[in-house]
Amino acid sequence: MQQKTSEHIESLMVCEKAIRRQFEISNKEFAEGSQGDFDPLLEEQHEVVPGMINKYGNRALCLLTAECASYCRFCTRRRLVSDIERGRMDSDDVDVWVQYLRDHPEIREVIFSGGDPFVAGDELFEYALTEVSALSSVKVIRIGTRAPVADPVLINDRKLEAISQVSQPVYIGIHFEHPSEITRPTKRAVKRLIGAGAILFSQTVFLKDVNDNFHTLRDLFNGLVEIGVRPYYIYRCDPIPGATHFRVELEKERRIMTQLRRNLSGLACPTYVIDVPNGSGKIPVPLEFWDTDTSSYTDFEGQKHETQ
Ligand code: SF4
Repeated sequence: MQQKTSEHIESLMVCEKAIRRQFEISNKEFAEGSQGDFDPLLEEQHEVVPGMINKYGNRALCLLTAECASYCRFCTRRRLVSDIERGRMDSDDVDVWVQYLRDHPEIREVIFSGGDPFVAGDELFEYALTEVSALSSVKVIRIGTRAPVADPVLINDRKLEAISQVSQPVYIGIHFEHPSEITRPTKRAVKRLIGAGAILFSQTVFLKDVNDNFHTLRDLFNGLVEIGVRPYYIYRCDPIPGATHFRVELEKERRIMTQLRRNLSGLACPTYVIDVPNGSGKIPVPLEFWDTDTSSYTDFEGQKHETQ
């Protein structure tokens, strides 16, 4: 994955090491070779039509573009992200998604992701939202993005208008890693999304030397609640080739999460999960309040995994 950073991220990189570490290519990426799995969540295996992944039956994921405003070096989709040719979608692809959704009325929730849907052209974004939300079987729309952090100007009038026209609730999951990402332009973008009627939540990944300590995450989650973004998930970093140097020891993560649970209001405390390597779901990790053996866990399908 090439290096790409927006002007906004570059301005944050100047004085914040935690931001540089997320976006700057490091030698460690190459030193790791191909250790890990390029598609740990088995998304390619569940791609039912180009750009649409149906893993869970009642939810479908639509990858609107492979581009992002800035590329995170720990990205779970780094096999695809930045592959602009392969990830380029157009209105014909959206038509195919809509047909698939018509044929599968059991799909109630559609998640637009990528890449970053806010990097897609306004016309395509608008078309996808309009066409998908016109289906009465679709009850919830979700959008996954890092644009309010990575390049807040991408939250523009036309996309906001498209969101405000959707009759279903639109839940927007924003990826945040560090409290210094809550800048004035980001707060403005968040406010505008709320103004368009979106319900906001956050997603975070535990990252070594970025946010693997109590104070950083406490400030991040408190800061998010204060701007109207509900902390939702914090993930254990997936073992992606080139990104394993970002992984934190499990026991350290559990210790931090236990301390956060003790100190934060329930509203500010996200659920700490492992994304199962076979793509079968997100399993909550028990905190230190329980005497538990965390060396293995069982996924939604009853399969046992050694904790990685
Ligand atoms: S914004 Fe999301 S999809 Fe894009 S590089 Fe970062 S983690 Fe990956």
